[in-house]
Amino acid sequence: MLTKDLIYVIILYAKLRPAMNPSIPLSQFKKIGSATLKKLDRLGLKTAQDLLYHYPFRYEDWSKILTVAELKTQKTGTVKAKINLIANHRSPRKRMVITEAIIGDKTDSIKAVWFNQPFLATTLRQGTEAYFAGKIDFDETYGLELLNPSYEIVNKHEPIHTGRLVPVYPTTAALSQKQIRSLIRQALPLAQILNDWLPREIRTKYNLPALSMAIEQIHFPSSQPWLKRCLHRLKFDELFLIQIQNLLIRRELKRYQAPTIKFNLEETKKLVATLPFQLTDSQRKSAWEILQNLEQSRPMNRLLEGDVGSGKTVVAILAILNTCLTKYQVAYMAPTEILAKQHFETISKLLKKYSFKVALLTHSEKIVNGKKVVAKNFYEQIARQKIDIVIGTHALLQEGVSFAQLGLAIIDEQHRFGVEQRAQLTRESHRAQPNQQNYSPHFLSMTATPIPRSLALTLYGDLDLSIIDQMPKGRKKIATQIVQPDARAETYDFVRQQIKNGRQAFVICPLIDPSDKLGVKSVKDEYDKLKKNIFPDLKIAMLHGRLKSEEKEKIMATFLNNETNVLVSTTVVEVGIDVPNATMMLIEGAERFGLAQLYQLRGRIGRSTYQSYCFLFAENQNIKTYERLKALLTAKNGFELAEKDLELRGPGEIFGTEQSGYLEGLKIAKLTDTDIIKEAQEAATQILSGNAELRKYPLLAKKIKALEKIIHLE
Ligand code: ADP
Ligand code: MG
Repeated sequence: MLTKDLIYVIILYAKLRPAMNPSIPLSQFKKIGSATLKKLDRLGLKTAQDLLYHYPFRYEDWSKILTVAELKTQKTGTVKAKINLIANHRSPRKRMVITEAIIGDKTDSIKAVWFNQPFLATTLRQGTEAYFAGKIDFDETYGLELLNPSYEIVNKHEPIHTGRLVPVYPTTAALSQKQIRSLIRQALPLAQILNDWLPREIRTKYNLPALSMAIEQIHFPSSQPWLKRCLHRLKFDELFLIQIQNLLIRRELKRYQAPTIKFNLEETKKLVATLPFQLTDSQRKSAWEILQNLEQSRPMNRLLEGDVGSGKTVVAILAILNTCLTKYQVAYMAPTEILAKQHFETISKLLKKYSFKVALLTHSEKIVNGKKVVAKNFYEQIARQKIDIVIGTHALLQEGVSFAQLGLAIIDEQHRFGVEQRAQLTRESHRAQPNQQNYSPHFLSMTATPIPRSLALTLYGDLDLSIIDQMPKGRKKIATQIVQPDARAETYDFVRQQIKNGRQAFVICPLIDPSDKLGVKSVKDEYDKLKKNIFPDLKIAMLHGRLKSEEKEKIMATFLNNETNVLVSTTVVEVGIDVPNATMMLIEGAERFGLAQLYQLRGRIGRSTYQSYCFLFAENQNIKTYERLKALLTAKNGFELAEKDLELRGPGEIFGTEQSGYLEGLKIAKLTDTDIIKEAQEAATQILSGNAELRKYPLLAKKIKALEKIIHLE
């Protein structure tokens, strides 16, 4: 029998062109040229559905329509007015086209002015009625003017650019808000035929609006309260899906057997004794938790959280040692080639006296015991357990890599990997032992993301948690300073002095290439400048993501060996790398980075007993920039900084754009949406209570599957 919903959908289908469905490519849209398509593609927007899920990041409230007379008493506002007169002329000095119009309604009229948009004189003809929204300016000579107002011609449709809560979208400069808005408006009817996969009982219980309604309202809200309700629904969706996945993973893992890894106390103690430092209590405790876990026959699924520089690597190495002593293999995945290589070297060195075979696997390099090996040979050695430890990038997930006896899989800088990549590693590892059913290796993820314990437990409901909340002894606080432009020379003198004493420095720039944007520092410019004018006597190297990986390795290796004094780099050095002798970091355009990212960057220094120094240069000298950067000077740890960022910039910015990959399931939900997180957790538990199967909710099951984030365990 047809339900009412279904009939509705069928009618809608009939009304729309047959080709219209949410997954149609944007190339089939009316009036989209190839240039626009390219720009959309750059934003990751390929289909109508992508557009529907491209949410605004804020709204401008132009909903109150004023009369022209009222507008004249305000600083900004929207009016609905008729064009009485419009004309272009050239400014005498500035060679600019100025469009001037007199617009008016029953109450009054006012001048509107636009710059360098000569086409307006033809779009907005005399007699046209339109909405105008913008700022009022008072000019001594010209009197009151509406400056560069956005406009929208009145027609039978609701306005979308003015006269309402107007959505503002993430975009590239090349694609205007107007273009995006119009495209989304065009795609919006398709929201009606999206399947609402959220079980009806959940929708009712939490009073959540239907999916189609929520999608419509998030783009073109009819009022603030409706927007709020619909935001709630879409946030709930994201959090609910994560919770469902967590519960499924947890449930699946329970059915699996992992190898019991013997805790070899004696060898562990011996290894610890050879370290050039004493483990902190936190490190000991975390290592102990992990080693206890590995002894179980249930797969470990643990997150090791610890501030930048707190020494997570060595804790992982203790787990590796025990796994290899029990004759199982280890896979260690890092997010960048530079970092993989560095771990490869650290691990090879620390475990030297054992005869474990350690290998490096990246797209550009496959190394076993110091020798390069061709891929086929390499995979074979892994499959026949000739290799004990493989350290690599996501190349580890490639077809062809299949382990003989994988006991432990480690994911470093876990927030850098997508959920899908993490799930894939799990899948690959399950495939590892085709003849052993229900077999799983142990999993250890590591991250420096400062998520409070309670929140981590909720979000990563499938994980156990170990926290290193103590820094190694003897570390000095990094002296951090915001450098005023006139103190630049002085700073360079200081850096030179430190380098003469044997130390090294990073110089971080926001861009690789010189840009049109005046003043944004690029690695190439800065490298030239330092080499020619500032430090002609020092050895300077340059590093960025566009170099070939061999070059990158070479540059990192020479820096690590103190053969270069200064490394000018983009944020490619942000994650994980460890050069203890580098004690200085100069960050150019510091205000362009999120606080959390600056914190991560700065974590590259202060890794030895030498005093370290961080110098922040801002292109933009305003008070707000200063206030924000100052937080970096005072914050004691990442947690505190995250809170500060929250206070100064609002929830969206805690993790910076660079970090957003860490929970890519979350587009609009925030870690601070604690109430919704609780609801979503409760709802997911209800859906999967007891041994309930997702099959009862086919749309939800399909949604989860489409996300491909679930671990398929065949
Ligand atoms: P992260 O937690 O950021 O991954 P690393 O594991 O790279 O940190 O460690 C940072 C640096 O601190 C390394 O040079 C490491 O050898 C050193 N280190 C680790 N533990 C200690 C300790 N207990 N005492 C002193 N130095 C330590
Ligand atoms: Mg690390």
